[in-house]
Amino acid sequence: MDNILLDNDIIDRAIKHYGERQRINQTIEELGELIVALSKSIRGFANKPHIAEEIADVEIMLHSIKRMLDLDFFVDMEIHHKLERLTEKMKRGEI
Ligand SMILES: [Mg+2]
Repeated sequence: MDNILLDNDIIDRAIKHYGERQRINQTIEELGELIVALSKSIRGFANKPHIAEEIADVEIMLHSIKRMLDLDFFVDMEIHHKLERLTEKMKRGEI
């Protein structure tokens, strides 16, 4: 389920305004920023407000990609299957 704050109208306007290629580049950039923030937290430099900011950036951009490629339904299906598999793995005691 998507975050109700992710306003489709604003996201669609941004896709139209900046273009799909730029939105993909922005997504890659935001993913990189989240990787850096999480990596710093493992090394003992956890900055929760900063991690929250980077997660928000990534969620906005992933939602944009789903809108651009019309993937909402397929992503939801994948999430459902993957969480079912994860549940089974944990029940079996797998790592
Ligand atoms: Mg960012």
